[in-house]
Amino acid sequence: MPIAHAPLTLPAGMRSTRASQAVLALFATQPDAVYSEADVERSLQAQGLHVNRVTVYRLLNKLHAAGLLQRSVDAERIARYMRAPAEGGAAVPRFECDGCHQQIRLAGHQDRLQSALRALRQELQAAGHEALQLELAVRGRCAGCAQPSA
Ligand SMILES: [Zn+2]
Repeated sequence: MPIAHAPLTLPAGMRSTRASQAVLALFATQPDAVYSEADVERSLQAQGLHVNRVTVYRLLNKLHAAGLLQRSVDAERIARYMRAPAEGGAAVPRFECDGCHQQIRLAGHQDRLQSALRALRQELQAAGHEALQLELAVRGRCAGCAQPSA
């Protein structure tokens, strides 16, 4: 079962501009992608939209504050953004490579993985904990760094 994502529409109070629409479209068309500010800026530039760093950060942070994007900071202190799961939806495990620091969002389509995450949530809920936000990160070396010749 694919991950249910939070619907991707401009949150109230956020102005609809070409830049904000382009950022939304980027995450809408690549629902499993993880982007840094620089990635987003590059993508907008490729579409002929020249938006400065501060504006891109502001857009990403607003979408993060509105709960549409998740943010994570890697070992190099680079913030990366990805679509947030729908409320109560499954956590999306991430894998970060210690070599090249790319982040890979695990598709999480495997039933066994999803039921393991559900079991973890249920155990915490049974203990009385609430408003749980699971965030799982796995670190290691990606296939490209592990076998550079491949
Ligand atoms: Zn790597």
